[in-house]
Amino acid sequence: MKKVAVVGCGAYMESGYGCPGEWRCLKAAALGEGNFGEKSSVVAFVKCECPGRTLVPTLGMAAKLSEIKPDVIHFSSCLANSKPGCPYISAEELAKLVEGKTGIKVVLGTHDYH
Ligand code: SF4
Repeated sequence: MKKVAVVGCGAYMESGYGCPGEWRCLKAAALGEGNFGEKSSVVAFVKCECPGRTLVPTLGMAAKLSEIKPDVIHFSSCLANSKPGCPYISAEELAKLVEGKTGIKVVLGTHDYH
């Protein structure tokens, strides 16, 4: 089964409503729906924190401590499609940064549930 890490927008997660850690990303991964494309095992769920500088080291630490390297990293739909968007960096730029540092492909989005 494909191993995935999910990255949520911490600013959104802490707003307390529709948190990406609540169920949507996990359901889509379990059922292989949305952007996952196939049933996937979530091996890490990492929270980006403003202004985003800690994301790459946090992803690295999650992979190190769990001893499982994800095949793919998904940015949660609320991170990838947020309106208004992240004031620090676009999801596309952040994805390039993460791909460059980790060597792991980043997919923008996890699900389209409401
Ligand atoms: S830096 Fe952007 S993506 Fe990361 S938590 Fe802050 S608002 Fe969300």
